[in-house]
Amino acid sequence: MTASKKVKVRFAPSPTGLLHVGNARTALFNWIFARANGGTFVLRIEDTDTARSKPEFEKDITEGLEWLGLGWDEYYKQSERTDIYREYLEKLLGEGRIYYCFCAKDELEIQRQAMLTQGLAPKYMGTCRNLDKEEVKKRLDRGDEHVLRFRIPETKIEFKDMVRGRISFDTSIMGDVVVARDLDNPLYNFAVVIDDALNEITHVIRGEDHISNTPKQILIINALGFRVPEFGHLPLILNPDRSKLSKRFTDTALRDYKDDGYLAPAMVNFLAFLGWHPKENKDVMNIDEIVKEFDITRAQKGGAVFDIEKLNWLNSSYIKELDLEEFIKATEKYISKGWKLTPAMAETVRGRIEKLSEVKNLVDFYFELPEYDPELLRWRGGPLKDSALHMKETLEFLRSVPEEEFAQAKLEKELLSKLPKESRGDTLWPVRVALSGKSASPGPFEIMGAIGKKESITRIEEAIKKTGMLDI
Ligand code: GLU
Repeated sequence: MTASKKVKVRFAPSPTGLLHVGNARTALFNWIFARANGGTFVLRIEDTDTARSKPEFEKDITEGLEWLGLGWDEYYKQSERTDIYREYLEKLLGEGRIYYCFCAKDELEIQRQAMLTQGLAPKYMGTCRNLDKEEVKKRLDRGDEHVLRFRIPETKIEFKDMVRGRISFDTSIMGDVVVARDLDNPLYNFAVVIDDALNEITHVIRGEDHISNTPKQILIINALGFRVPEFGHLPLILNPDRSKLSKRFTDTALRDYKDDGYLAPAMVNFLAFLGWHPKENKDVMNIDEIVKEFDITRAQKGGAVFDIEKLNWLNSSYIKELDLEEFIKATEKYISKGWKLTPAMAETVRGRIEKLSEVKNLVDFYFELPEYDPELLRWRGGPLKDSALHMKETLEFLRSVPEEEFAQAKLEKELLSKLPKESRGDTLWPVRVALSGKSASPGPFEIMGAIGKKESITRIEEAIKKTGMLDI
């Protein structure tokens, strides 16, 4: 790192799809690197692919970053910078470092196949490298289809990657790279160089899939006399079987995680650990702690496995940390309209879920007692009559508790003291089923505390009726 230069990094997504978790990880690493070094974080929308770029994807990107809390200091959009790229394309064209190529796609494909069958790495053969000016003009005037290629000199490109150490490329295996469709339509490898230079980016941190673009970009940087930034290529994100992360295995859009009820701080924590770990053995770290300890040279070289179990575990620990009011607000959109969790209800589920979307099935019975089979009231195959009897005894006790004292702790203490330890299930099972209508639910005392005296009594009376043993 050059001490004199203020750190400036960028996240440069293409808005051709929903923000991918891998790209969110790249954004996060850049953001953390900027914060850790007192630098600037640039968001640059790389929408040179006009056919595939869509405003809704740009919106998805900005919303995703905002959700994660990754604010940007500067914002650029490549489609608004065409004139700038044109100026540099013309410059290199004038210097003969870029040239017009009129080769037809199918011709190129035939050449490619031929090289492959000879066991050679395919590259552009340079057919149009030395066309004379007259010829080029004639073809352009005629309207022949063309692209612009950058002349790759035969040399060795070496750079020190912040993550992977020294990397070198022999450029003789690369063909002249296409940098634009025409003067007004630059392609990724060209626009990225111009912007990184003009935005004064000091460190380019991006996914490993871009590593083969780096030598091309360095050659263009050199041709334009720009300063070469530092590079850091982050490891690929992998499925558990170590193939590249795919939808086959998990959701890949960040939005899906947000919608499913993952909390942003849990997601940030998880993404930060996809390819990086602090010195100490810790799993739960908030963003400030991560920024404090972050050192990109400690990022791993090998692929980072996306472990959904770990994300679920992290998310459940972040959910447990929410206070009840925050929890109620966060779960609102996952439960039916008109339902309003009380703090007591929230308390019964907050520690039981891995993601907020699970809350609905756990709290529904508070609002609508489900239809259930009276058989469910039977404890361990015993007689229904016993269940009815125990519920009736419980009712008597509940009726005796004053409304204002009807709370979980008191009910638990007093009712348990009346029940013989070895046969508590005889009472607690049918009472819990009566209160929830479900085979699994929070415990009976938690439920009674949450729904109150009147509703608890009504539900238990209903259950006794269901057994058909009214005369006990
Ligand atoms: N637009 C490229 C992408 O989305 C950016 C790559 C880079 O960071 O240079 O993959």
